Amino acid sequence: MELGPIQVVIGLACRKCRKDEDVELSRCGGCRRISYCGTVTVIAECQSADWERHKPMCKALTALEKNSAAAARLVSLLPKQPLSDLREIRKLTDKQVDVYFTYLQGQTALENSWIHYEPRCLVCTRTEMVMRMETGAVTQRLIPCPRCMRSFCCSPAHWEAAHALHHSPSTDWRDGFSHCQMNTFARLQEWVDAGTSTLFDRQGQLVWVPGRIKSRWVSLEGKTWEGEFDEEIRTSYGIPATIPSSSTFLLSSASDTLSMPMTILYGLSKLNEDDSWTRKQTLTVHVLGASDREVSCRPVFEEILHRLPGVDTLEIVLCGPEVPSRDSFDHEICPECIARGRSCVLKCAAELVFATTLLLWITDYSFSTYHDFVRKQGNQFKTPDLCVAFNSGAAQHVDYTWRTSIKVLAERKLPSLFTAYCREEAEQDAAMIRAAGAALHPALGPCLNPWGSQKALPTAHSVYGFHTDNAWLAGGFK
Ligand SMILES: [Zn+2]
Ligand SMILES: [Zn+2]
Ligand SMILES: [Zn+2]
Ligand SMILES: [Zn+2]
Ligand SMILES: [Zn+2]
Repeated sequence: MELGPIQVVIGLACRKCRKDEDVELSRCGGCRRISYCGTVTVIAECQSADWERHKPMCKALTALEKNSAAAARLVSLLPKQPLSDLREIRKLTDKQVDVYFTYLQGQTALENSWIHYEPRCLVCTRTEMVMRMETGAVTQRLIPCPRCMRSFCCSPAHWEAAHALHHSPSTDWRDGFSHCQMNTFARLQEWVDAGTSTLFDRQGQLVWVPGRIKSRWVSLEGKTWEGEFDEEIRTSYGIPATIPSSSTFLLSSASDTLSMPMTILYGLSKLNEDDSWTRKQTLTVHVLGASDREVSCRPVFEEILHRLPGVDTLEIVLCGPEVPSRDSFDHEICPECIARGRSCVLKCAAELVFATTLLLWITDYSFSTYHDFVRKQGNQFKTPDLCVAFNSGAAQHVDYTWRTSIKVLAERKLPSLFTAYCREEAEQDAAMIRAAGAALHPALGPCLNPWGSQKALPTAHSVYGFHTDNAWLAGGFK
């Protein structure tokens, strides 16, 4: 999130200097949406220094709050009783956000995320603005959970109603953590990331691959992130074994990008009956719905070569409307792989489709979907070892493009794997894949992905839940 740490976004840290501890915070007197350090009576340095940047957003939110039609609509949406069904809560939040956008139309200066991540009551979705609209009292405040400070309720009674939801172990995330524990973990993660940010790239990603090459393929069954990488990340970053848990957060950040190669390996091992795929001279993976992320994280794919000593060439073909418009992406692999004459090639699908018709390549980007790619390849199309779609959100797209792509995968019986950010999306994607006629592999979803990222981010317009890269396997088939 470009807005900075979530503490800033939810108004529990200074928007300018980002301090959240040992500092008195005051809300902006205009929008009351964000905080600065300093008291209300003393105009804080941070607030004045930030005013030019904050002004458009402040004006837009203040105007929205004064709009009586918007207020009436938002107040009318509130439920009579605290809700317990998460889907109902989510639906209500979506409706609320729709109202925001209807009345904010044209005021694009307001960054969406300030709305997406606005704190709201866990069981009734009230935001502080809606509370002020209801009562006219400007001092109305949501009550944060004293333990995690990341979840809110509008009253002590609603905290009572939300207690089970917030504190019971969840089956949606790793280790059965409760929502409150995940909030705490996410907060610590941000804090550690900020302290170690020099290790991260410009997109804020930790791109790290262990230097070792395994002597043979070892099944990932029953293995964990900690077991496979903890010692290596300690050695790599010089963390002594006497500090038991400090590598956990670094490993979480590394898992966020390493999740891609590890999920590919896991999918391949489940979709193949024997191990012959681990000894292929060239292993080909098509990434569907790829984006800049696969390109900027490309060094992590070398982990596939490092776990498959029998493979010489790893070919990754990126396909999707968001793939940066470059025909190939070079990067250097490790000296040992070079010495062994291995290569890790990252291509964009356009290069394959239009290799012979360069003019068309420059002007025509309609190849962007996988079904188009397959169709345009015609007889040239070679079945890859795996088609993978990371966090496709296939069922969330209303334009049906994914449905068509999934149909092609199912009809041609291409080995495929879909991942999702959370349980709900995984289950919806799985239903869509089944509807396309594919039989899902029982070990590949919908279920938690043992190689999903360990780094949880809050979900936009949600009072509950996280969005975690490849957290769930939605479905695998061939
Ligand atoms: Zn400040
Ligand atoms: Zn303001
Ligand atoms: Zn409430
Ligand atoms: Zn909590
Ligand atoms: Zn290497």
